[in-house]
Amino acid sequence: YAKTNGVHRVVQYQSKLHDIFVKRIRLENDLQTALENNEFSLYYQPKVNVQSGTVSVEALIRWKHPQLGMVSPAEFIPIAEETNMIERIGKWVLQQSCDDLKTLHKSGFSALKMAVNLSARQFMDSSLKATVSNILTSADVPPSSFVFEITETTIMKEPNEVIRILQALKEQGIMIAIDDFGVSYSSLNYLNRFPIDAVKIDRSFIRDFHENRKGAEIVEAIISLAHRLNLSVTAEGVETEEQVRFLLEKGCDEMQGYYFSRPVPLEQLPNVLMKLQLFARKWR
Ligand code: C2E
Ligand code: MG
Ligand code: MG
Ligand code: MG
Repeated sequence: YAKTNGVHRVVQYQSKLHDIFVKRIRLENDLQTALENNEFSLYYQPKVNVQSGTVSVEALIRWKHPQLGMVSPAEFIPIAEETNMIERIGKWVLQQSCDDLKTLHKSGFSALKMAVNLSARQFMDSSLKATVSNILTSADVPPSSFVFEITETTIMKEPNEVIRILQALKEQGIMIAIDDFGVSYSSLNYLNRFPIDAVKIDRSFIRDFHENRKGAEIVEAIISLAHRLNLSVTAEGVETEEQVRFLLEKGCDEMQGYYFSRPVPLEQLPNVLMKLQLFARKWR
C-alpha cells in the first residue's frame, strides 16, 4: 500500500510540475501579443500622506488573459523580465500612467502625484532617461509629479552605475522610493549611499507586527532611522484600524493598503480620492 501510495505521489508531483511548466510556456508565449491585443490595463491604489495632508496613487498593471482571466503581475512581470518583454511593457506603463495622470490633473486633482514600479532591467536600461523625458514632455506633465518605485535587489546590482542613474533621474525632478523595504539583508547599509527620497516598509512587517512585539519594534526602528536620514516612510499593506493607529502614533508619513482602498480602475479613482483627501487632512 505504502509503495503504491508513494508511486502515486511521485506521479502527482510530476504532473503538477508539468502543469506549472506548461503554464509558464503559455504565459511567455501569450505575453508577446498581449500589448497588441490591448489585454493590459492599469489600476491605481491611493497612498494617504498624513504628513503633507495629501493623497497620491501607485499604478499597478493588470493582465486580462482571454482564456485564463486575470493573471497577477507577481506571476508575469518576472517572465517579462527574463524575456525582454519588460522593455515594451514598461514603456506602455509609463505612457499610460502619464496620460491618466494628465487626465486627473485636468479634472480637479491638479497636484496629484503618481508612483510607477520599475523592474530592475527597465531601471538599468540605458534608454530610460530619454524614454521618460519624451513621455513626460509630450504629455506635458511635470516630472516632479512622478515617483519611481524600485526594489532593494535592483539597487544592489551595480551600486556605482545605480547611483549615476538615480542622480540623472533626480536631476529630471523625479522622486525615488525603495519598494518592499526590509526584506533584503543589506537594507541598512545603502540607505545613506543612494540619493533616494522614501522607503516603503514591506507588507510582511505591517502584517505581522501585532502578532509579536518584535515586529512592532522593527517597524518603529525603520521609521526612526529613515527619518534621521531625511527619508519619508510609507507603510504598505495596511489593512486594519489597529495598524493605522499604531503607524500614526509612530509618526509614519504615508500609508497604503486595503484599509483605505484596493487598487481601482481610473473611472473609480476620483470618488476614492475625494473620500481619502478628507482623511489625510484630518490627520495632518
Ligand atoms: P508592489 O509594488 O509592492 O505592490 C503592492 C502589491 O500589494 C500590489 O499587488 C497590491 O495590490 C497589493 N496590496 C496593496 N495593499 C494591500 C493590502 O492591504 N493587503 C494585501 N494583501 N495586498 C495589498 P499587485 O498589484 O498584484 O502587484 C504585485 C507586484 O507586481 C507589485 O508589488 C510590483 O512589484 C509588481 N508590479 C505591479 N505593477 C507593475 C508594473 O507596472 N511594473 C513593474 N515592473 N512591476 C509591477
Ligand atoms: Mg510598488
Ligand atoms: Mg511594495
Ligand atoms: Mg511587493
